[in-house]
Amino acid sequence: MRRRRRTVSAKLSFALFLAALLYLAACTPGLAQPGHRSSDDSPLSIPQLLPEANNTSGRSSLRPMPLERSIAAASPAESGAAGSVLILYDTAGEYGWVGQIHARMLANLLGHFPVTYKAHPVEDYRRGMLRRFDAAFYIGSTYDNVLPPNFVRDVMTGDTPLCWFKYNIWRLAWTQTGFSSKFGFTFNWLDWTGYDTIHYRGETYAKYQADPELGYVWLLYPSTCEEIATASRTVDGTTESIPYIVKGGNLWYVADLPFSYVSEEDRYLIFCDLLYDILGYTPPETKRALCRIEDVNPISDPDELRAIADYLYSRDVPFAVGVVPVYTDPLGFYSEGVPEYTELSWNPDLVSALHYMESKGGQIVLHGYTHQYDSTPNPYNGVTGDDFEFYRCELAEDWSTIYSGAVPEDSSKWAKNRVKAGLAELQAAGFTPVAWETPHYAASSEDYLVFASMFDLTTQRAIYFDLRLPAHGFKGDGPPTYFGGQYFPYVIQQDIYGQKIAPENLGSYEPDPWPGYRYWYVEDVLRCAEKNAVLRDAWASFYFHPFYEIESLEEIVEGLQSMGYTFAPLRQDME
Ligand SMILES: [Zn+2]
Repeated sequence: MRRRRRTVSAKLSFALFLAALLYLAACTPGLAQPGHRSSDDSPLSIPQLLPEANNTSGRSSLRPMPLERSIAAASPAESGAAGSVLILYDTAGEYGWVGQIHARMLANLLGHFPVTYKAHPVEDYRRGMLRRFDAAFYIGSTYDNVLPPNFVRDVMTGDTPLCWFKYNIWRLAWTQTGFSSKFGFTFNWLDWTGYDTIHYRGETYAKYQADPELGYVWLLYPSTCEEIATASRTVDGTTESIPYIVKGGNLWYVADLPFSYVSEEDRYLIFCDLLYDILGYTPPETKRALCRIEDVNPISDPDELRAIADYLYSRDVPFAVGVVPVYTDPLGFYSEGVPEYTELSWNPDLVSALHYMESKGGQIVLHGYTHQYDSTPNPYNGVTGDDFEFYRCELAEDWSTIYSGAVPEDSSKWAKNRVKAGLAELQAAGFTPVAWETPHYAASSEDYLVFASMFDLTTQRAIYFDLRLPAHGFKGDGPPTYFGGQYFPYVIQQDIYGQKIAPENLGSYEPDPWPGYRYWYVEDVLRCAEKNAVLRDAWASFYFHPFYEIESLEEIVEGLQSMGYTFAPLRQDME
């Protein structure tokens, strides 16, 4: 029985993080069908986009809300670095929501830097906007979107650093005299033939081939334009390559939408690293690591926790412990139909083990109140650690997860009360958490706003909606909304909800199979850490379930240390 619980819990946790990682990806027209899931059954093909059930927010269209941050997330800009940033994005067409979500994901990454930003639909561009900002981005996500003439003119005549993603560059390159001489490259066509490997700083990254499309440019004047990253493929022993990211004059061109189909080892990381150069900031050139022991709850084994604490202490590794302070199995899923319920403070041996972990460098992270929802499967069995707490989910026939929407009673007050209850349970056992971690990395926007207001630090991945505020529950009719999942390769001082986020970018060790999901072995965690090591503000952050064999934890920790990563504690002032 116990083994079964452990196994299921771990598999589901893994499934969830994977889903959180990939479901947004869908930002490719043709793959993105509201209300439908991808028919691709590869293990990486998690449902990509989902309507949030029955929007009752009263909004009648998907017109984006204003999106801006007027106060920089950190200290003042370095001299010469960007202090203010403009994000322009497409909203036109059936897939206009894609641009809205990608704009939010970009805004989250800007939360790593001490910049203010303003996000604005490109269709509403007004003359002179570009030059009022220190740097700008245009997310070309709507194919052949008509660009305002003022925008085209300002790009051609201005010198504000501008990063352009994928589509519609041809509206300049093919019509504006002087484009090539100003920027040193020209645009050829959209390439669908499939370049699956991206090269950057001596490392390779994946480009997921459910979306093979890339903008294909040629460098004409090497004195003006340089190739920053390269896309390649190898067929029958022959390797072909095309530019992937180029910089000509003040224009960066990214041949792709790097927020689509994101995995832990793909080209999204390249763009994250290049933000330092685009914005003009000096990277710290550090390699730091985070370790989190996951899903510790009132029925966890104290001896396993003590053994882990002893090992990590012996390796000089500070670590986080994600604690769920209440265990419940209201349907008796693991107890032959008899409901179970236990609070942390009812288990003195476990409380003592957690204090022991603290004495060895452990830091308590509040990982939900019950890590399940009500007395109903959400989506699996209603058991702590297995189910979602802050978002409603269902299981598809193939056991993949359908994100149905906010829970029916979702509100700021509801979320706040759950967090408060979790804090009270922790405090009853003598603990004060250093951070928050959302169970299964999913909640409504309103819940995230609550987490941001109650914690100075979180450690997690998160989901982001095309509307800033959530649709509530399942009642009423309204337009669907969309969301995407995002992880971060470095510290985000402030995401669009206001959360400070310590990264989790490597996932968790997962040796057991599960329908629809991949294995994730020690070598997978370490391979992704190698790819992150190339970044100039490198982090290797993973989590580990304490019921797995400690030898795997040892291999990961020592593997990361041998790559030059230094483990760091969670701190509210971490950068
Ligand atoms: Zn969990």
